[in-house]
Formats: sequence, structure tokens, C-alpha cells
Amino acid sequence: MEPTYALHSRRCWIDGALTEATVEVRGDKIHRVRAGRHAHQQLIELGSAVLMPGLIDAHVHVNEPGRTEWEGFDTATRAAACGGIATIVDMPLNSSPVVTNPEALRQKTEAAQGKLHVNCGFWAGYTGGPLSDLEALLDAGCLGVKVFLVHSGIDEFPNVTEADLHRAMPLIARKGSKLLAHCELAPDTAPPAPADPRSYPAYLASRPKQWENEAIRKMIRLCGQYDCPTHIVHLSSAEALPAIAEARKRGLPLTVETCPHYLYFHADAIPDGQPLYKCAPPIRERANNEALIAGIKAGAIGFLASDHSPAPPGIKELDSGNLMKAWGGIAGLQFLLPASWTALRGHLSLEEFIPLVTSRPARFIGAERSKGLIKEGFDADLAAWIPEEEEIIDESAVWHRHKASPYIGQNLAGKVEMTAVNGRVVYWEGAMREEKVGKTVFTDRI
Ligand SMILES: [Zn+2]
Repeated sequence: MEPTYALHSRRCWIDGALTEATVEVRGDKIHRVRAGRHAHQQLIELGSAVLMPGLIDAHVHVNEPGRTEWEGFDTATRAAACGGIATIVDMPLNSSPVVTNPEALRQKTEAAQGKLHVNCGFWAGYTGGPLSDLEALLDAGCLGVKVFLVHSGIDEFPNVTEADLHRAMPLIARKGSKLLAHCELAPDTAPPAPADPRSYPAYLASRPKQWENEAIRKMIRLCGQYDCPTHIVHLSSAEALPAIAEARKRGLPLTVETCPHYLYFHADAIPDGQPLYKCAPPIRERANNEALIAGIKAGAIGFLASDHSPAPPGIKELDSGNLMKAWGGIAGLQFLLPASWTALRGHLSLEEFIPLVTSRPARFIGAERSKGLIKEGFDADLAAWIPEEEEIIDESAVWHRHKASPYIGQNLAGKVEMTAVNGRVVYWEGAMREEKVGKTVFTDRI
């Protein structure tokens, strides 16, 4: 039976404003949106909870197949559903095999079968191999192409050289796709290892802003040269913002995301010997966070993504606290909404904030005609949450495969009440209500 129900909220995000409305769902689509409160046989009353499109997290490392013990489709998409997220896009690493050819994509989509609690798209990876593989991945419906300019953390996914980019970017532009770049450039000779591998300031100094600034300058140059849509993932160095703003002003197809951990945490408060906070590029000093927030307000940074990249506690070196050895990656998928809102609520209104996790990432993944807005005919992917409600994150409420997350113990504002995916209410008042209703998302089905 097709679900037919309506949701009423006094704060429904419609046409960019929060207004009282009743949203009717039929099957997997939004059937009707009406101002005010209207009776319905099956009315879900949300009161003053904010009703908005389900979040889209365009940057998630699921790691299945091959490293499912790090994170898998079942656990990742369950956490997403509990966090108000209706769609994730999976990175081509750190699964094994990495998704750099069609056979690896086949294994990836097969592994996702029957496990998706939210929708899931896939980024292709490019590591300098045959362009025929890259073209085949785009023809198969991957939403774009991810590259690293620096060692990715796993040897199966080497970084590209500038020569590789000169070969790949014309193809990516011709296919109407986009390039996503991890922007850090390391010097040829590695700096000496710090004396104390547990020191956060030493880790921070080992990956300076300069690495990001230089890589971003390079990508801006190549973006212009090939008119190839180029996206800077997880911007941390706010020093790069003037160059980004200038390039966008010139009309270059350049987009940028940042992550809640670069806004919510800051280096001065990170204890030594605590690899939960280790990621690359690193979390920087408080003034940098403030400059990133200014970059969001100014529109240079278009949206937010979790860059959820967990690892088992042993690989995260939680016992040794060795920051130089530990896996770099923050586990935060479930907390994309509350962590972002908590960091930004003093700076942005709800109406300014909501697009950063809904309509903007929808446009970025090419889903602007089906997702990211509450609009008749759009996918019934919805989230209801209470921005004013704060809660201290308890380990028992974490649905990632591993509980280890820097958000545990944090007091976050923004409690998720309900998540609907493809018309199905998957999460409601603290519990999963329906499972495995997510779909795979490809360029021809979006
Ligand atoms: Zn990532």
C-alpha cells in the first residue's frame, strides 16, 4: 500500500520562509502543499517543529565492501536516518576495491543492495588510470569524480598529478560532470616528524594552511583553463576564501563545501593525545572558524557536508593517542544537522541555515528538480526537528558502526524528531520505524 498522510507544522520551510503549512504525501512524492492547517485521515502533527526537506550529505565514506568493519551501508544509513538525512553520497574510498572502474562500482552497488535506510548516490574516483574507466563510471551514473592532490591515507587510492588533471578535466567537462578535489599539496620533502606524536599543535603544524591555499590556487587555475566544474571538498583554511570569492566572481564554475567539525571545534580546545579530532585538513584555530563562517555568510562556501570518515578504535589509535599514526577522519554523519546548527545559530537565521543542508547540496548533486525543496511533485524526503532543543550526545544514541565520535558528550542544539525517505517515515520520536526504504541515486534517476 502506498503511504498517504499529511504533516502539519507551524514552521514549514516553503519558498525560503518558515510558515504554517500542511504537506500531503502520496507514495514517494509530495502530493500537495497547502498553507495553514488542514484535516487529513492520517495527520502527523509536528506542532512548531521545523519541517524541511531531508538533509543531503554529499560527502560520506561508507567503506563497504572491503572495510565494512570501519563503516557499512546498514550502519551508516541508519545513523543518517536518525540524523534527519534522507540522501548521502558515498565517496569512492575507503572501500576495497576503491571505485575507480565499473567493476568496482558494480561491487559497491551490489554491497548496498537491501541495506539502504536512506538514499545513496556514488562519486567515482580518479587516480590517474585509463580515461575509459572514468568515462564508463560517469556513463554508469556516478554523480561526479573525486581526486586527491595529496596522499589519500590509503595506498590503493593514489593522488593525481597535474598531468593527470590535464587529461581528466576536459573529459569531465565534456560529460557535463564535476570534479571534487581534496585540496592539500605536500612539499616534496616531508617535514621532520614531531618530537611528541601526541601533541595536537604539532599535528596542526604538520598540515599548514599553505598546503590548502596552494592546492586551491592550482584547482582554480585548472577550473578556468578547462571550464570544468570544480568543487573543493572540506575547506578548512579560511585564507583561501579571497581567491575562491574572486574566482567565483569571475564566473568560474567553482563550488566549495565545509564541514561542521571545522566550525564547531577549534584547535585551542582540542586536548593532546585525542585522535578523535584528527582529520585532514586539520581543525584549526578559533579565528579560522570565524572566517569560515563569514565565508558561508558571503556565499563563497555553498553548503555543509559531514565528511564522515570513521575507523575502528585500534586504527584510530585511541589507546596510544598517537596523532601521527592515527587514521584521519571524523565520525559525525549522524550529527551533521545539530553540530552545524549549534556552530552557526549565533550567526545565521534558520532561513539562511536550512539551504546549506538541503537545496544547495541538492543542486550540487544534480537533484534540484526532485530534492531539496518542499514542493509538489518533489520526492517526499523530509525532516522535522526542533532547533531550540539541546541535548548532550550520549554514546547510546550513536548509530554509526563505532561509537567513537568527538561529538559524544557535546551539548548540541537541534533535536531530530522525524525523518521520511521516499515517503516512508523511517525515524520518529527516537526510534527507527521502517527500514531499507532507501534507493540508489544515479544521474539518470535523480
Ligand atoms: Zn572525505
